[in-house]
Amino acid sequence: MDKIIVGNWKMYPTLSDSSVLTSSLHNSLETIHGAEVIIAPPTVWLMHVIENWKHRVSHVKFAAQNIWPDDQGAFTGETSAYLLKDIVSHVIIGHSERRRYQLEDNDLIREKVQACLKWHIKPILCVGETKKVLNGDKVDTHQWEKLAEQLEEGLSGVSKAALENVLIAYEPVWAIGTQNPATPEYTVEVIKRMREILAKKYSQEAAETVPILYGGSVSAGNCSDFLRETEIAGLLIGGVSVKAKEFSEICQIASRVGR
Ligand code: PEP
Repeated sequence: MDKIIVGNWKMYPTLSDSSVLTSSLHNSLETIHGAEVIIAPPTVWLMHVIENWKHRVSHVKFAAQNIWPDDQGAFTGETSAYLLKDIVSHVIIGHSERRRYQLEDNDLIREKVQACLKWHIKPILCVGETKKVLNGDKVDTHQWEKLAEQLEEGLSGVSKAALENVLIAYEPVWAIGTQNPATPEYTVEVIKRMREILAKKYSQEAAETVPILYGGSVSAGNCSDFLRETEIAGLLIGGVSVKAKEFSEICQIASRVGR
């Protein structure tokens, strides 16, 4: 299976930055084989980026960074899955920055996951603990319960069949934007525990097939350590995703590793 690389541009690039990024990424990503790349520009530049991506190739897809769960209505400033359904293939849901600054809770996140699935958009459900779950052999029960809750409540109401269209991003909050990534060993251990929850809720097979990505201070220098782990289906990249050269390098490395 190809590794999946998601580039979350967050609220970084201006219109002209987005144009420059789009043309450099277009050139470097067009010819890669063996990785799926999903680019999530700020919503305001989504159409601009897509329209400027001249030759559409199936391994490069586009995502929104957020949605509102209702389809249409008096929701000033919001964008819905219904409005985005012909524009993006994926949406990032429940990013820790939204949980923190917009106070998104698991109920709202669950509604957003369901809105995506209703309109055949794949949600990338982000979950992650604020302080380390594992310390050697010890598990911080509080942190683990919070993480398990995000996973269970975020997926509440998602059927086994629908789970096939869900991606999960494990993003420990303490590792995001800190230049202090989790180790691959730590990540694999937490992902295995997350799969145990999924196995109980769905089935062993479903738990093994749902793609779980890692995100948190990934760079070109450390990405292969994560990519070589079969448990880790790919990477969600924030800060570095707006550095065209480094992001392309990560995608090239991913395409060589495969899954
Ligand atoms: C993110 O925004 O999800 C993220 C992982 O950011 P960074 O790569 O900058 O840590």
